[in-house]
Amino acid sequence: MPDENRLKIELCEYAALLWARGLIGGIEGNLSVRISEDLVLCTPSGLPKGHLKPDQIVLIDMHGNEKGSTGARLGFRESEAVKPNYRASSEIKMHLGIYQARPDIQAVVHAHPPFATSYAYAEVPLDLSQSPEGSVIVGEVALLPFATPGTDEVPNSFLPFLPNHNAFLLTRHGATTVGGSLEEAFNRMETLERLAQVTYQSRILRRS
Ligand code: 13P
Ligand code: ZN
Repeated sequence: MPDENRLKIELCEYAALLWARGLIGGIEGNLSVRISEDLVLCTPSGLPKGHLKPDQIVLIDMHGNEKGSTGARLGFRESEAVKPNYRASSEIKMHLGIYQARPDIQAVVHAHPPFATSYAYAEVPLDLSQSPEGSVIVGEVALLPFATPGTDEVPNSFLPFLPNHNAFLLTRHGATTVGGSLEEAFNRMETLERLAQVTYQSRILRRS
């Protein structure tokens, strides 16, 4: 079984990188990593993901039962008998639905990168097949129908596309990438956004 503490640190590091690269802002985005067949580590809901600490990471099983986090919420005194745990991301159903459908996936990254999200808002398909990095790193990008964030609609919207896609645009919402590791899922998100920007800009240049 992978080292749980090591993976908590990695989750915080990749969450901070998402923020540093401008792929999320404010309290946007969420990440998770599988630690066993039945257990997942996930970022907490509603916090700025650029500055997370390992004890804020939530452990949850594949059925959505939260096993808690080790940290106490800010504002609660040390003397208080019960330290409330952080809650798992509001998009935990999306993460668990993906892991259940694809046993090969070890990590899920969800962000709101401005260019990729613009394609998702405009509901314009993003074709990266012209780009070698697009084909090799990201693959075909699925454009999912609108699903209300945080509901079962979100994992359901992934199902038809999951078997042969690793990058997804969520209509009027953002983007999700998956991978065999946090590094792979993060790299997909970063390259997806860079190529979305290049695609957008090159369309404008062609018309000028
Ligand atoms: P959480 O803070 O609950 O993970 O929500 C962020 C987000 O991007 C919702 O889609
Ligand atoms: Zn989101």
